[in-house]
Amino acid sequence: MREKDTLKHVGKRKQLAQLLMQKGIKNEAVLATIRNIPRHLFIDSSFDEHAYQDKAFPIGADQTISQPYTVAYQSELLEIEKGDKILEIGTGSGYQTAVLCELGAKVYSIERQKELFRKTKILLSKLLYRPKYLLFGDGYKGMPEFAPYKGIIVTAGAPYVPKPLLGQLAIGGRLVIPVGDDPQIMNLFIRKSATHFEKHELGEFRFVPMLEDKN
Ligand code: SAH
Repeated sequence: MREKDTLKHVGKRKQLAQLLMQKGIKNEAVLATIRNIPRHLFIDSSFDEHAYQDKAFPIGADQTISQPYTVAYQSELLEIEKGDKILEIGTGSGYQTAVLCELGAKVYSIERQKELFRKTKILLSKLLYRPKYLLFGDGYKGMPEFAPYKGIIVTAGAPYVPKPLLGQLAIGGRLVIPVGDDPQIMNLFIRKSATHFEKHELGEFRFVPMLEDKN
């Protein structure tokens, strides 16, 4: 079993949090999640050495665990308060899910790759993270059963902004979504009223594509 955290790992996480601070992450609660969460347990053990570099890594099924800076950046944009309902599109390795849980969010997350969905569900429970609901399904549809959400975070590059996601946002809620083709532009939508969304275009990022189901 490699569900082990060591002082060495803790030290590396502190350094990573320091680096993210230098890169502009300010939210102390977000930085604390970087210091706390054993990222090396979310990736294949052959990458253990590199787990605390500020890099994305392959996690199987042609997917990647997002770069720590990106995770922190998107998490900061959500402005999460304890108890907020947050929907995540693209559970992937579960690392971002764990960050949201540690920030005190009630987390709902969707993954479309069965293999990853199964693996990550088991891992999160082993590590004692308790998202409210993990769904094997299509993120383009969101999760209307539990809407509205205070925040929605998309962790794959979307060719366009899916309408259902805007519709499932609470008034005052925030949707953080990378849009476009390599690279993507981070978009932040804030729902001001039933019909009005304020849009902000932020920096450039690189994500694996958000895939559409062909059924
Ligand atoms: N948050 C993840 C990022 C994984 S990469 C992490 O920190 O590890 C993006 C993930 O989005 C992949 O796991 C991919 O399978 C998933 N994905 C792609 N298109 C999707 C869709 N339409 N619905 C749900 N998940 C999708």
